[in-house]
Amino acid sequence: FGGFAKTSERLSANLPVASGGSAKLDEATLDEVEDALILSDLGPSAAARIRARLADKRFGLEITQRELKEAVAEEIAAILRPVAKPLEITAFPRPQVILVIGVNGSGKTTTIAKLAHLFQEDDYGVLLAAGDTFRAAAIGQLATWAGRIGVDLVRGPEGGDPAAIVFDAVKQATDTGIDALIVDTAGRLQNKKELMEELAKIRRVLGRINPEAPHDVVLVLDATNGQNALAQIDVFKEVAGVTGLIMTKLDGTARGGVLVAAAEQYGLPIHAIGVGEKMEDLRPFDPDLVARVIA
Ligand code: GDP
Repeated sequence: FGGFAKTSERLSANLPVASGGSAKLDEATLDEVEDALILSDLGPSAAARIRARLADKRFGLEITQRELKEAVAEEIAAILRPVAKPLEITAFPRPQVILVIGVNGSGKTTTIAKLAHLFQEDDYGVLLAAGDTFRAAAIGQLATWAGRIGVDLVRGPEGGDPAAIVFDAVKQATDTGIDALIVDTAGRLQNKKELMEELAKIRRVLGRINPEAPHDVVLVLDATNGQNALAQIDVFKEVAGVTGLIMTKLDGTARGGVLVAAAEQYGLPIHAIGVGEKMEDLRPFDPDLVARVIA
């Protein structure tokens, strides 16, 4: 995916070995590598782990810029590989209920549209539910996407009860043989208690219909938020439970380092990444490719 991040913003721009040059991998060089990793949003824990692995393998040896970059990419990939897990439709009985959560502006609505499009391409029947009844604009935006993709949307009035909409949506999905029901939810973290109660009620209603539902609780994170994205994982784990992540806005100037930090610190599955505003702009999470692009 071209244009993921500008070369100047990549980690390698901060690595201590000049282009075409080489350096001895001693403590001082390793310090600088670790600093570069932290500067690129990988977080202290992943940075320390990568430093230790580099030291184990190559301490005291001369290393070229290219070798260093490749070695760092390999260590990043090693952190990312265990969490790469596509969102698959496996629920029986259907529908698989996918709750999508995240703060407003993270790209939640767009990601729902992208997922719906992806599932449809795979011949799955998809239904959307407008569970963010707090913002009229959110309902309208989801309706626009639904029309564009050609999927049905279950919606209620602004200010309506999201749990009631979800109830109706599951019923419609069951009656019409839908494979995947994707539920939008409110993202107003400003009122954590209210959001928590709202999500808990949706969960209760779902659980009464099918104890396995929701099958997935996907947290959408904006990569341009850097370390703030990590704080959001903490909060949403607490208010909603999280089964997996999708990181958006990894195109343009976004720095992907926060993906590595998330993988290292939380170990949550990463399902996919958003690389643009169009419905086709959702990519499977390929750890080796992402590692090379970050490095
Ligand atoms: P929501 O408030 O969380 O539902 O966020 P939206 O889905 O409305 O997205 C907020 C803004 O981010 C919109 O302008 C989207 O077009 C944009 N957006 C969403 N995902 C991506 C992405 O992967 N890349 C880019 N560049 N923009 C995105």
